Amino acid sequence: LIRCRDIQKWYGSHHVLKNVSLDVEAGEVIVIIGPSGSGKSTFIRTINALEEIQEGMITVDGINMSHDIANIEAIRMETGMVFQQFNLFPHMTIVENITLAPIWVRKWPKEKAVKIALELLERVGIHDQAGKYPGQLSGGQQQRVAIARALAMQPKIMLFDEPTSALDPEMIKEVLDVMKTLAKSGMTLLIVTHEMNFAREVADRVIFFDGGEIIETGTPQQVFEQPRSERTKQFLSKII
Ligand code: ATP
Ligand code: MG
Repeated sequence: LIRCRDIQKWYGSHHVLKNVSLDVEAGEVIVIIGPSGSGKSTFIRTINALEEIQEGMITVDGINMSHDIANIEAIRMETGMVFQQFNLFPHMTIVENITLAPIWVRKWPKEKAVKIALELLERVGIHDQAGKYPGQLSGGQQQRVAIARALAMQPKIMLFDEPTSALDPEMIKEVLDVMKTLAKSGMTLLIVTHEMNFAREVADRVIFFDGGEIIETGTPQQVFEQPRSERTKQFLSKII
């Protein structure tokens, strides 16, 4: 579903992605780990063209990410993204936040968009919050709205960039549980997270990034129990 070949990216003279290649099959759950500044966010943002690459190739569902606007729009329709900060529109209700893009981008009639928004809110466990504003919700609830909003566009791939890092500990589980359900439903997920227990439980593959490179990739068992690289071992010894 996703093919990345020898991606190179620089910010000025700073080489932030070095020869990154990764193939993701439909339905795979990939967890990306690595130290701060290693390029994890930059990498997943290249997959929906939030970041430009200087060299290499990315295709998503067969669409080549040439910097052709039509292709970029097509790819963005296939990828939903959830950030550390929920980025909800504060002046819009929960249901308005979720239906905005389906109505304007997908051109759905409002009734259809609302119906689907309510179903998604049910799925993330907060159907009773539809008429509220983001500021009236807890962080965990807001993040579940952000997930519902991304799902409303019916993407084939969901990208998560540290979705629980800004949450209080008691709210992390409710968001991880929603992500587990998505993983079980067969959706293709790329998740940057420091939640190693979650990674063990749901990841098909764990990818360790360091210094802009993929250092190691394998099943959670391989990467966590038998890391091949010294750098992976060092990183894991600091966080587990
Ligand atoms: P963290 O775990 O802290 O989120 P990360 O692995 O997601 O880190 P990135 O945010 O991808 O790391 O950053 C990779 C490198 O690129 C860092 O050295 C960062 O300082 C640099 N960088 C990121 N965004 C920009 C930017 N817009 N302009 C210049 N440099 C940037
Ligand atoms: Mg990051």
